[in-house]
Amino acid sequence: MKLATFTAGQTPEIGIVEGDSIVSLSRAAPRLAASMIELIARWDALESEVRKTSGPRLALKDVRLLPPILRPGKILAIGLNYADHIRETGREMPTKQVWFCKQPTAANGPYDPIVLPKVSAEVDYEAELVVVIGKGGRHIAKDSAAKAVFGYCAGNDVSARDWQSATPQWMLGKSFDTHAPFGPWIVTADEIGDPHTLGLRSFVNGEKRQDSNTKHLVFNVWDQIEHVSKVMTLEPGDLIFTGTPGGVGMAMTPPCFLKPGDRVRIEVDRLGALDAVCRAEE
Ligand code: ZN
Repeated sequence: MKLATFTAGQTPEIGIVEGDSIVSLSRAAPRLAASMIELIARWDALESEVRKTSGPRLALKDVRLLPPILRPGKILAIGLNYADHIRETGREMPTKQVWFCKQPTAANGPYDPIVLPKVSAEVDYEAELVVVIGKGGRHIAKDSAAKAVFGYCAGNDVSARDWQSATPQWMLGKSFDTHAPFGPWIVTADEIGDPHTLGLRSFVNGEKRQDSNTKHLVFNVWDQIEHVSKVMTLEPGDLIFTGTPGGVGMAMTPPCFLKPGDRVRIEVDRLGALDAVCRAEE
C-alpha cells in the first residue's frame, strides 16, 4: 500500500495512492487518524479499516503531495555508507557507524522547490533509501528490526557542503530548511520485503549522477536500527536516511554544486521518484 499526505486546498489530508488517483482517508473516515504519524502509531488497529476504504477518490494531478510525514519526530541519517561514496570523499572505510541528524524543519515535499540558502554556495544532492519507523522501540535486535519498520520512501539528503565541512559535526550543513525532501509517498514494508535489493539513482537536469543499489550498503538497514536503538527510542514516523552512493556533485572534477533552476530527480526502485527544482533563497 502507498500512503501519502496531500492537500487539495488548504488542509493536509492523508490518503492511499492507487495508480494515478488518491483515496482520501481524511474524507472517508475523518475520525480514523488526524495525521500520518497517528495512522502509523495505531496501524495494528486501523489497518483493516484503511484497506476497506474505497473513496472519495481524487486525481493525483489535482492534488499537491506534501512530505508524507509533515513533521517527523526525528530525522536520523547515516554517513559514509556506500564504498564508492566513501572512496570519493577520500575517507577511510568506517568501522563504526557515523550518525548525524537532519532537523525536522528540513522536511520537504517530493516536488517542492529545494531552496539554495543565501549563506551557502555548495549545495549538493544525495539519493537515499529512507526508512519510516513503525512500532519502533528501544534495543531492537538486528534479527527483529524488520518488525520495527512501517515502510520506505525515496529521499534526498540535501547537503550544504561548505557548512558541513566547516566543523567536525555535520548537523548544520545537513539541516537547512527544505533540505530533507522525501516521498513521494510511503510504501508499506509488506510490499517491499527485503529493502536491500533496490536500485537508486539521481539525475540533475536529466544527466545521471548516481546509479547504485541498496545491496551495496556498508551497514544495512537492520544494522542501523539495532545500533541507533541502543541509544534512543525509535518512535512511529521517525525517519532514517540510510546513506548515499558515489556520484555526488562535491566529488566531480571540478565540483558541481546545485544552481537556481536545476532540476533534481531522485528515484528508488518500487518507491517512486522525487522531482524538484532548485531556487535561490529570497
Ligand atoms: Zn546522506
